[in-house]
Amino acid sequence: MRSVRSANPALETLEPYDPKYLPANAFLSANENPLDVPADVRLAVKREVRNVAFNRYPDPLANDLRDLIAEANGLDRDCVLAGNGGDELLFDIALAWGGPGRTFLNLPPTFSVYEINAQLTSTNVVRIPRRADYSIDEEAVLARVEAGDIDYIIVTSPNNPTGQLADEAFLLRLLDATDALVVVDEAYFEFSRRTMRPWLEKHANLAILRTFSKAFSLAGVRMGYLFADPRVIREVAKVRQPYSVDAVSQIVARVVFENRAKFEPGIKAIIAERGRLMNELGAMDGVRPYPSDANYILFRVSGADAVWERLYEQGVLVRDFSHAPLLEGCLRVSVGTREQNDAFLAALRAARKE
Ligand code: PMP
Repeated sequence: MRSVRSANPALETLEPYDPKYLPANAFLSANENPLDVPADVRLAVKREVRNVAFNRYPDPLANDLRDLIAEANGLDRDCVLAGNGGDELLFDIALAWGGPGRTFLNLPPTFSVYEINAQLTSTNVVRIPRRADYSIDEEAVLARVEAGDIDYIIVTSPNNPTGQLADEAFLLRLLDATDALVVVDEAYFEFSRRTMRPWLEKHANLAILRTFSKAFSLAGVRMGYLFADPRVIREVAKVRQPYSVDAVSQIVARVVFENRAKFEPGIKAIIAERGRLMNELGAMDGVRPYPSDANYILFRVSGADAVWERLYEQGVLVRDFSHAPLLEGCLRVSVGTREQNDAFLAALRAARKE
């Protein structure tokens, strides 16, 4: 048998993406919605999926879904693009705006997928780390883009895993200071209720990323979307896999979006629970939670890696960042149901007593 020659050297230092899923009673590590799609919406999905022609290719651009999302946001269809999760669109942005000889500006610590995509597309990365409290070093970012070599920037708002929004006035200054594509990743928009959407028409270099994975309980289905100027959407559409958004996902997302009001009580409950968790964590000695506008809370705790283990032994899975660059000593807990959050708090208290 012949051996196989080596893969692209750009892959040498990469590991396949591993969210470290482990079985647990309280699964609070992936920023998902703790509640599944409401029963009546599931039923409506089931009825519609029955009519899918499985033997036919889907509409490559998911135009029915695009129209629905566009209309709800006061946009034209050509300002919207659906993707196989926000992740696919982030990769497409790296393909379209990155590449050899091109440069991505990142604001770590943030969502790890951005730099993986840059590496996969041989894009240079310039980093402006956040300050100790994880706020953006705004003046450093604005000064850096003056050099004119940045091709795209991603600002996560709220930021994952740290939880804070980017300041709107800063984003507007950034959009004026550079012709780089400025992607505002609003994956957690429904929990922050703050968006750059009103500024789209005034800024041809603004793109906004959203997802169905969080507020709309569809992490398992894979659906994200992008808002941008039609010229940006057209470039991203060029690199997109032809049928990445399959027929079933298009239907599920359409029915869910049509019924989005039914998710509101769940979103409100998560926001209320986030406040309660924040207070409880803040009242614990030696625990420092960072303010969050999303559906998770990052917190610093002494002996974080051991605390993670003890939480897991008690059936509570949170995300371990204790050895991650710029996040040393931190864990991230997704806001769950009241019962799951109580289980987490009890386990954390027990873990710290041992
Ligand atoms: N952006 C951010 C900041 C995220 O946290 C996530 C999910 N982890 C995504 C984008 C992508 O979400 P999805 O691919 O599930 O739509």
